[in-house]
Amino acid sequence: MPLRFHNTLTQQLEDFQPLDGKTVRMYTCGPTVYSYVHIGNFRTFSFQDILRRTLLARGFTLDHVMNITDVEDKIIRNAIQHNQSIQEYTAQYTEAFLADSATLRLQRPERLVFATEHISEMVEAIEKLSASNHTYESDGSVYFRIGSFPAYGRLSKINLDGNIAGARVDVDEYEKDDARDFVLWKARKPGEPAWPASCGEGRPGWHIECSVMAMKYLGETIDIHTGGVDLVFPHHENEIAQSEALTGKQFVRYWMHAEHLMVEGQKMSKSLGNFYTLRDILEKGYSPEAVRYLLVSAPYRKQLNFTFDGLKGAAASIDRLRNFELRLAGDVLPDGENPDMSARANQAIADFDAALDDDLNTADALAAVFEYIRDANTAMDAGAFQSANKPGARALLDRFDAIFDVLKPTVAESSISDEEIDSLIADRTRAKKSRDFARADQIRADLLDKGVVIEDTRDGVRWKRK
Ligand code: AMP
Ligand code: ZN
Repeated sequence: MPLRFHNTLTQQLEDFQPLDGKTVRMYTCGPTVYSYVHIGNFRTFSFQDILRRTLLARGFTLDHVMNITDVEDKIIRNAIQHNQSIQEYTAQYTEAFLADSATLRLQRPERLVFATEHISEMVEAIEKLSASNHTYESDGSVYFRIGSFPAYGRLSKINLDGNIAGARVDVDEYEKDDARDFVLWKARKPGEPAWPASCGEGRPGWHIECSVMAMKYLGETIDIHTGGVDLVFPHHENEIAQSEALTGKQFVRYWMHAEHLMVEGQKMSKSLGNFYTLRDILEKGYSPEAVRYLLVSAPYRKQLNFTFDGLKGAAASIDRLRNFELRLAGDVLPDGENPDMSARANQAIADFDAALDDDLNTADALAAVFEYIRDANTAMDAGAFQSANKPGARALLDRFDAIFDVLKPTVAESSISDEEIDSLIADRTRAKKSRDFARADQIRADLLDKGVVIEDTRDGVRWKRK
């Protein structure tokens, strides 16, 4: 079965092929770095990670661009409050976002691009749109006239029957179902950062950022554009209007949107205050792998309710997988091959792949793995799982982990590197030679606190992690 994705534009499942048959050019709307990203945001970013890994597993190469929105209303407000420049203010949250993404094992996109480093290209794009009569100016700000773009509304299926002429909005977030001319360039306000432009000093609106950066790096027509469902309207609708008004070409071939992470029936969001950051959850003692597993365990187009019971369930599922892996490595198995078990592994691999090919159905993919593990455990108990059945099982686990990436435990932050251990052991040896036994004992105790046991042998000092 071919790889198929649901395209928000056509509302259909479509076979996927990149335009050039090989490299998938993909754009992701990244975070607005005014605060810590919450795990709702990370549901969308985790979906993108599963998408990336599936595309790589199918042999495609990726050119994936993600933007960081580092100038925006809330950023400016908060930076002023903290008496910082927007660069100083956003740097800490960009860093936190990247650190949290790494903790969740999200692959880094090939390119990470910052809005404030592309202002001149945005100004150029706005000038071009103005030259082709897609804009108008009011009080020093420039607006995109959505009436000038007949295809407006095609992505979100928004009904444009009402009177839209003249209505305009210059904030980045506005009411659903309320189609308005949107701001491309905001006139400078006192005390706010601003950049020079032919239309007057100011700063870009949010929507133009993504159009400009996506096309700069990926070309006028890109393969995949992703984000959460709340971005379909107006953000992505506006991206299409700007980009296609500029080029006359289709901007994006496949639009893919992740449904929300919910809390008691409501979207997890900053404004509702019903959110957890990754840090909040790790502090409660859950592992990053459990969070990752929970976020990706439901298919991305289904809403997922966040609960701590769900998180405990995710941790228990990971334990089952790891226990099977340990058993596979450690159990003494009878020689030979049980052909039924080999066939069973092949079937599980085929089912796993088919589930992912079917619009990234992670729930079915997990079911294929767990059903196999149940059967393999039963066979092991009965002595019917033989040594030559191991490679099939291992192949399934590897295939699974290339996408889900939860088998390897995260090493606790307090742990220490091999090099640091070696260097402390050398210190201890020196201390012993100079008969500073108190110091030598202290080093041994410190290492033990960090989970490292040392043993003096005739061949020197040996160490192992507890
Ligand atoms: P933002 O920084 O608000 O633009 O959000 C970054 C990404 O997270 C966007 O793709 C949003 O659509 C997505 N997002 C926001 N809230 C949630 C949620 N509760 N569940 C899933 N995705 C979300
Ligand atoms: Zn965007």
